[in-house]
Amino acid sequence: MTAGYEGHTLRHVRPPSVDALARSMTDTGLPHPLLVDAARSAIADGGSEDIEERARRYAHAWARALLQPVVNATGVLLHTNLGRAPMAFAADAVYSNLELDLSSGRRGSRHAHAARLLARLCEAEDAIVVNNGASAVLLVLAALATGRGAAVSRGELVEIGGGFRVPEVMEQSGAQLVEVGTTNRTRLADFASAVENSGNDTALALKVHQSNYRIVGFTAHVTVAEMASLDVPVVADIGSGLVDAACPWLDDGPPVWLAGEPAARQSLADGAALVTFSGDKLFGGPQAGIIAGRADLVRQCARHPLARALRPGSLVLNALQQVALAYLRRDGQAIEFWRMASLAPADLQVRAHAAVAESGAGEVAEMASVPGGGTLPGTEIDSFGVMLDGDQTAALRAGTPAIVARVSEGCTWLDLRTVAPDDDQHVIAALKSLG
Ligand SMILES: *Cc1c(COP(=O)(O)O)cnc(C)c1O
Repeated sequence: MTAGYEGHTLRHVRPPSVDALARSMTDTGLPHPLLVDAARSAIADGGSEDIEERARRYAHAWARALLQPVVNATGVLLHTNLGRAPMAFAADAVYSNLELDLSSGRRGSRHAHAARLLARLCEAEDAIVVNNGASAVLLVLAALATGRGAAVSRGELVEIGGGFRVPEVMEQSGAQLVEVGTTNRTRLADFASAVENSGNDTALALKVHQSNYRIVGFTAHVTVAEMASLDVPVVADIGSGLVDAACPWLDDGPPVWLAGEPAARQSLADGAALVTFSGDKLFGGPQAGIIAGRADLVRQCARHPLARALRPGSLVLNALQQVALAYLRRDGQAIEFWRMASLAPADLQVRAHAAVAESGAGEVAEMASVPGGGTLPGTEIDSFGVMLDGDQTAALRAGTPAIVARVSEGCTWLDLRTVAPDDDQHVIAALKSLG
């Protein structure tokens, strides 16, 4: 009965004050109000565990829920759960000339810096930036086709994931979907008759990149160059944001795994009136949507009321500007996505050997990285990393920084292609601690 007696007295011992409990956890680095919440939760839920331990568990849960840098050892270069393209995480607080024209001293446009560089990069007359690829498509359709038709091949009525479905975006924009051709075969004549039959009611023809799937077998599709002969402007949603198929920012030119990927510059050269793409896929920048092409159409987009609702802030524009400047300098090494994508397997093998030797854990293994982010389905890039027996992902995720790895065939795979070289030390420390 001793235990019961002790339990009884414990309930009458005054619990530590919320404030004292919160103060005992300042070493976690969390602000006081969050520690107070953790302390309150710990007191409220009782249980046999020591109250301080319980409070620390709540505080720890808060800390783990915060946005923080993680080590991406999955080998998925554009990992949707990890924010797609890797980006700088923090910057000093500064003012910028976001909407100030420094030459005239008058109010300027937030489309005058990053967007101008993007236009230059794609050899477009003009460009604007919005919050993501989905908003780029939405804005183009709303600005150019509300109350009118937008012709799309039935083979391109895609769902990208996370709720981006072409017919639904179309509906939200107020444009009417004009379906053309069939799922597997669409010809130029199908587009031409759809446009002709609608009188003046088809505003544009939309080409949507089949980013995350392929239609194979008995197929036919219409290229941007062919569509350019139609009487309506062609909008190419290339999605993935490859700027130039020739990849002049890479010393060795385009990698083989990029073959067939549509690019902004070539789509415009082929006659697209506008291209739209994401900032954080193959472009390698922050989450953003880019609309580039004919100046009159870009202006129509910029003037639409939705443009205000979809406009990005200076953080995003500044990050995009940095990436655009790196492209213009042809410095692919300065763009983290392209630096990682072009690493030689032999160099990754050397790093994998060092990680295994220093940690005494796992073994060096060949593996395959993937571009990810809903781009280039089925594409693999030869890589090297460390393989561990069993599923070790929870333990790897529990450290700081968290290390995110992949499990397959009963093993854990840490692909070093997506790990920044400075983070190898974290991988090694984590491997050591697995014991
Ligand atoms: C990814 C993608 C989108 C959506 O872009 P987000 O930046 O994810 O909003 C739209 N269209 C295509 C073809 C895409 O690949």
